[in-house]
Amino acid sequence: MKIAVYPGSFDPITLGHLDVITRASKLFEKVIMAVVTNPNKTPLIDIDNRVRLAQACTKTLPNVEVTAFEGLTVELANRLNAGVIVRGLRAVSDFEYEFMMAQMNKSLNDDVETVFLAADTDYQFLTSSVVKEVAKLGGDVSGNVPAPVLDYLQQCFEKEQAS
Ligand code: ADP
Repeated sequence: MKIAVYPGSFDPITLGHLDVITRASKLFEKVIMAVVTNPNKTPLIDIDNRVRLAQACTKTLPNVEVTAFEGLTVELANRLNAGVIVRGLRAVSDFEYEFMMAQMNKSLNDDVETVFLAADTDYQFLTSSVVKEVAKLGGDVSGNVPAPVLDYLQQCFEKEQAS
């Protein structure tokens, strides 16, 4: 069985991420979204809520699972019996970092292959950071994130404004 992992911060999951995971779910028998706890980044959304939101957004995709993880992606892939790491590639900005990571992961474990899915033209310039900035300033991000994320961000920033 071909199992793939799709690692990322997903802080929050956007329509760009959802497009990648939907396409990956058609290419592999099982895809595991691995929501990373990165000790070097302070996320807007805590890990439990990022996992919960990712689960809510992918509930119509029966072969997609969501898990939280910390550590090396290749070790997670080993543990889950996954031979593939899926990453999304947007415009020019992602290339250098993504190639560096793919090469590093290959040197750590030659049996795990990184597969890149080109971002859909609609989502080429969509990043979680921009979504957060716009939502924080009260802008409309409904065209950029799935409904559960939109609700979460609205509640999150309404609470912040009230306090
Ligand atoms: P990370 O911190 O690992 O970069 P992200 O959540 O920002 O985590 O991204 C996870 C993966 O999804 C990365 O491979 C990234 O390039 C990809 N990605 C992010 N946004 C988009 C998008 N709009 N379209 C396609 N892929 C995307």
